[in-house]
Order: sequence, then C-alpha cells, then structure tokens
Amino acid sequence: MQYRPFGNTGIQVSALGFGAMRLPKLDGEGQTGFDHPAGAALIRQAIDAGVNYLDTAPYYCEAESELIVGEALRDGYRDRVYLSTTLPGEDRGYDAARARLEASLERMQTEYIDFYHLWGISWERFDTQAMPEGQVKMALGAKEEGLIRHLSFSFHDEPASMFKLIDTGLFASVLVQYNMLDRANEEAIAYAHQKGLGVVVMGPVGGGRLGYPTPVVQSLLPGKVQSSPEIALRFVLSNPHVSCALSGMGTPDMITENARIASTAAALTAEERERVNRAMEENARLAQLYCTGCNYCMPCPAGVNIPLNFELMNYHRVYGVTPYARAQYAQIGVSPWMPGEKASACTGCGACEEKCPQKLKIREQLAETAAVLG
Ligand code: SF4
Ligand code: SF4
Repeated sequence: MQYRPFGNTGIQVSALGFGAMRLPKLDGEGQTGFDHPAGAALIRQAIDAGVNYLDTAPYYCEAESELIVGEALRDGYRDRVYLSTTLPGEDRGYDAARARLEASLERMQTEYIDFYHLWGISWERFDTQAMPEGQVKMALGAKEEGLIRHLSFSFHDEPASMFKLIDTGLFASVLVQYNMLDRANEEAIAYAHQKGLGVVVMGPVGGGRLGYPTPVVQSLLPGKVQSSPEIALRFVLSNPHVSCALSGMGTPDMITENARIASTAAALTAEERERVNRAMEENARLAQLYCTGCNYCMPCPAGVNIPLNFELMNYHRVYGVTPYARAQYAQIGVSPWMPGEKASACTGCGACEEKCPQKLKIREQLAETAAVLG
C-alpha cells in the first residue's frame, strides 16, 4: 500500500480508503438489513491490506454503517485507522449537532473521531445558515474536548465555493468528487493541497459509471490496465494533489484488486495521464456537440426528461459506458433522483425542437435512445 502525507496533519494516509457505504446486505429469505459480521469482516480485511482511512456517515447503509464500523473496530482495529464520519446538514443548531456527534461516537464505540466532516456544504449554506454559531462552534468545542481530532468538510457545490471554504482556515481536509469523467474540481483540489489540506476523493469510478467494462476507456491504456475501474482509480491516484481515493468496496475481491492498484508507486506515467486527459477532453467536447443539458427544451408535454435521457445516451455514445447507461435508463421515472419519463414516452409533437439552441433532432435522437438503452 502506498501512503501519502495528509495535508499539514502530519499523518500518512493510505492511497486507498474504505468507504463504508456499500456493505453487504442480508440475503436470506425474508431477511432485511445488513450483514453485520460480513461487513465488519470486509472492513478488517481492508485494514489488514494496509488501508488506514475509513469513512462512514450516519445515514450510510440505511443508518447501519456506523454500527458495523463500530463492530469492525473492536479488538485493536480502532488504533489502526483514521476514522471519518459526517455531521448531516439538517443538524444545524448547536444542540442537534452535539447530539449527533455523541450518537456517532456511541454507535461506533469510539472515544474520538479523527476527521469529522460537515456534510455537503456550499459556501451559501456555510455563510448564511448560522453554521459558525451552530455546527462549527460545536465541532470546535468538541475538538478541544478531544472528541474530534480534525474538522473537515465534504463538498458538492460549485468549485469556486471550495476555494472560499478552504480560505476560512477551519478545515484540515476535504472530501470531494473527482474522477476522469468529471474533473470540475481539479483546480480546487490543487488549491486545497497547496493550502495544506488533505484531499480525499469520493467517486473515483464515477459513481459506478466506470465500474463496468468500457471499451472506450480501456483502449486508452492498452495492455497496461485490466479493467475500466482500474484505469479510473489509477487516474485519480496519479493526481499528486490527491491524498486518498475512497472506494465503497462491497466484496473481498474488490478489496484485493483495489489494494493491488493502490500499491503501485506510479499510478500512471505523466504521458499516460496526459493521454487520458486529452481523450476525456475530446469526449467532453463530443458530448457537447450532442446535448449540452441547457434545459431550454423543457418542459415536455409528455413529461419526457429530455436532457437526462440524452445525458445517459452520451455515456453510451461518447464514453462507451453502455451497461451503466442502460441500468440508469431503467431508473428514469422510478428512482426519485431520476424524475420524468423515458425517451420511449415521446409522442413526437415536436414542441421541444423549436426551443433547442443546438438545433438537435430531438425526436430522432430520443427514438435512438429508447432503442439503444431501453
Ligand atoms: S417531441 Fe417528444 S420530447 Fe419533444 S416535446 Fe414532444 S413529446 Fe416531448
Ligand atoms: S434544448 Fe437541446 S441542448 Fe438543451 S437540453 Fe434540450 S435537447 Fe439538450
């Protein structure tokens, strides 16, 4: 396992971190919930493989993740990891935040948390929702008491906001989205590193988009990598400003494979990284030639979520992540995160095409989307 300096904390953190958000479920007939012994065994396997950064959150795994983490960290495992969890956004006031912290400590059977994350903050939320008097004040007090070692934040806002949050000087590290399909935070990550923050990346395989075999991606490094997840993880780890890539590992094989990748000193050569960068930029440009996601065509009288259907079609057409695109297409109108109708609901009225600045043949492309992804 490679270890990297974690900002200015003085800590050496493993390049691979364990994200405890995809722990195994019970699969017996009539059983619901999560398999605690199996989940705890996975976490211990990762620690035995050299992983020393363990991330959980109160709501992961239907609120069972912190409990499983607590079970895994008995018998001396607690001292072998830096433990990270999250203060959810809705616990805004001082008292609610304090109650949440105490609950997390109890559920994880630990006396302290190494990296306590203010969850998903934006500059607006930080600046206008009295966080300094609520969550931040509570966390700084808890730090003085020794219940928290470091204050951190997880981030889902515009990159410009991350610069401002870094400049508050409050945070030791940041947990941020970054992968080869989505490099929007790359400059902010470099700034965090420059300012002495540890950088933990979530979603190194693009939230599953790169978790499937994808010929377009694999062809970028022929002979060097065995799978799309491998190149995705190598891409993230080859960024010198990244301290640790979190992976939600749900099977023993994933841990073995990811630990192997994270043990290689040079994740990608500079030339290979440049090749991937160029290819992804070209692909992003191609994606823009199709649908830019501007939303001007909406609403559709038949309820078709046109930009979402086209976004998924781009994953197939441009990036070659077809199995992911198909799986996601099936979720349109089913998952609360994917509202609206599938391409197949288009009635062909043509109202959208007049409004599209790209002059896309939307009806034709929706029919193709339905045929390929449906
Ligand atoms: S052509 Fe299809 S997608 Fe466009 S507005 Fe009409 S029903 Fe909606
Ligand atoms: S108006 Fe055109 S480019 Fe914009 S979201 Fe609709 S289809 Fe895409």
